[in-house]
Amino acid sequence: MTTTRFAPSPTGRLHVGNIRTALHNWMLARQAGGAFILRIDDTDAARSREEYVEAIRADLTWLGLTWDREERQSARLDRYEAAFEALRTAGRIYPCYETAQELDVKRKIQLSRGLPPIYDRAALQLSEAEHGAKEAEGTQPHWRFLLDHAEPIQWDDGIRGAQKFDPAQLSDPVIRRADGSWLYMMPSAVDDIDMGVTQVLRGEDHVSNTAVQIQIFTALYAAGFAAAKNLPAFAHEALLVGREGKLSKRLGSLGCDAFRERGIEPEAIIALLARLGTSQPVEPITDRAMLTASFDLATFGRAPAKFDEEDLERLNAGIVHQLPFEAVAARLTDGMDAAGWHAVRPNLAHVAEAAEWWGLVTGPITPPAFEDEDKAFLAQAATALTWSDNPWAALTTALKDATGRKGRALFLPLRQALTGMDHGPDMGELLPLIGENEARARLAKAAGTA
Ligand code: GLU
Repeated sequence: MTTTRFAPSPTGRLHVGNIRTALHNWMLARQAGGAFILRIDDTDAARSREEYVEAIRADLTWLGLTWDREERQSARLDRYEAAFEALRTAGRIYPCYETAQELDVKRKIQLSRGLPPIYDRAALQLSEAEHGAKEAEGTQPHWRFLLDHAEPIQWDDGIRGAQKFDPAQLSDPVIRRADGSWLYMMPSAVDDIDMGVTQVLRGEDHVSNTAVQIQIFTALYAAGFAAAKNLPAFAHEALLVGREGKLSKRLGSLGCDAFRERGIEPEAIIALLARLGTSQPVEPITDRAMLTASFDLATFGRAPAKFDEEDLERLNAGIVHQLPFEAVAARLTDGMDAAGWHAVRPNLAHVAEAAEWWGLVTGPITPPAFEDEDKAFLAQAATALTWSDNPWAALTTALKDATGRKGRALFLPLRQALTGMDHGPDMGELLPLIGENEARARLAKAAGTA
């Protein structure tokens, strides 16, 4: 069964880049009728906060990205301990004592010699006596995973194609801190094994992590930690950048709260993020099943995906124009019914603007001052107004025949007299909502005959 996961660290709110990763994993799972796991990566106790866990759940719920299972790394420490022991027994983990400053100096020296800043494995050279001395001092080691340099690491990436890494060009990763806490690298691989994750889709900032994790998977299987299965399929998507094409700070803080405040519909975010950076057209598609069915990693490009807030606004308007009354009823002003929603919907960029247009129906409205000729025309309109299924068509046809007016001269004074505005929703839909008596009163008032 296809199983994907979204694995945020609860050290902050979700931003648009995270939302995109969550969405794509959700779509992969839903498309295959598989499972989507929300995995809370909370091994960093100092920086993880419960309020962020709750905010992550709330944001995913608002976006409609339901998950089938929730897992928490903090509840799985026993498994990491077991994996650690298995790797240690297999000789794939070794203790190191360098301080952060010492490592920094090493890196600077390497860089100044034009060498890549790869960990030199000095800790592997420590003698028994040196280890003993460290222990006697009470210095706790941190732990590195010993990469196997024998063969290149390769995988067929769902987006990037054939990938090949020389493990000798990577540092043996620190997987456990001196205080016993876990870094990201090993727990994630252990979880992907235990949770039967079949597809790992994440940002391309994780490409070199994947190289390392492939070795961790393989080492865990070889150590008998879990029955050997296939590795998950990996895919890394190009990162999201701002409109200027640069990694933008703003995107890092743009999340569901900001979208909600600006009146952006979840479906607009979904429609944009589902296809941004792919060869498929970004369109205001409200049918999520359709979006999901068309989701295809093969359509993803390698270039960074440009997130443009103006595109999002345009898409939002396109989505709002399609939203059914039931989807928005709870957010509309009292008294606004389905007919009212349908009348104003095409004029909205955001649902909240419905209230302003609805105010034209409920009144009071302030018509402009008219020239005498228009006043006479409006007085004629007040008299000509009859009520039927389509009073607007009846009124304008009658006035056209009676006065010879057409186009703007025919329609604009009527619109202004009836709504106080030069533009707005289709009068054919608005007039029945205004009602016969009120409409006649507005026309008479504008004509100065009321
Ligand atoms: N917690 C990691 C992150 O947010 C998860 C990465 C992954 O998908 O493995 O970057």
